[in-house]
Amino acid sequence: MVDCHLHTARCGHASGTPEEYLQAAAARGLQEVGFADHFPLKLLGYSPRKKVSMEPEEWPEYMAQVRDLAAAAGPVAIKLGAEVDYLPGRGTFLDKLLRSYPLDFVIGSVHYIGEWDFSHPAQVKEYGKRDLVAIYDAYFKLIWEACAGGFCDIIGHVDVIKKFGYRLPDKEMEPYWRRTAALLAETGVCLELNTAGLDAPVRECYPGERLLELCAAAGVPVTLGSDAHAPDQVGRYFPEAILSLRRAGFRELNCFTRRRRIPVPLPG
Ligand code: ZN
Ligand code: FE
Ligand code: FE
Ligand code: ZN
Repeated sequence: MVDCHLHTARCGHASGTPEEYLQAAAARGLQEVGFADHFPLKLLGYSPRKKVSMEPEEWPEYMAQVRDLAAAAGPVAIKLGAEVDYLPGRGTFLDKLLRSYPLDFVIGSVHYIGEWDFSHPAQVKEYGKRDLVAIYDAYFKLIWEACAGGFCDIIGHVDVIKKFGYRLPDKEMEPYWRRTAALLAETGVCLELNTAGLDAPVRECYPGERLLELCAAAGVPVTLGSDAHAPDQVGRYFPEAILSLRRAGFRELNCFTRRRRIPVPLPG
């Protein structure tokens, strides 16, 4: 089992050192983990009001620390990744920048609609002030741009816009789901099954069952991640997640080494 989405205390809103995450991973019987801490937004030319990523000067320290841990052979293999915010129109810039680092993988995520940090608990009220269809349109437009942007190996928590339970009926979601599955298949970008949603108000993985099925049917590769922001969240709900993947029709998981995708059989 592989957990491809771990954070560390460096981002300012998670707790735990990389060593503590590794201990948790070993205790849960994981074979591999990927650190994917938030890439410094300031290096992308964006300074949000609230700090949500490490400072630019910490970025080389983060890479060195993870690489050193990876070099010291332990029970759990370690990959160096980053979770990078997609900023509109900046795919090529992001790709060039990210290729200059010795990363194993890049998770592309959408956390902002304009200036609105819509997955932040302190900004939930905004959902009530806007038209929900307009919110979903804006969010998925960014996800589709990120898929096509060519800078990431994996799209992170692909339907995280549902996090606080503001949802459209399934019938209205179907076109968003279909387009997302088709675009992932076309671009070769991996879907992520992110189990953090089970601990969020929505109480469902990102993505839910239907999009998972459509992606499996379209031949989209998938990764598995806990999005742990504390060591005790490493590998959360993985047995259930693996069952969901099987039920949806997936037969393998994927890991990355130096930006190359490596499929492994689905455990169990
Ligand atoms: Zn985070
Ligand atoms: Fe995220
Ligand atoms: Fe994350
Ligand atoms: Zn995340």
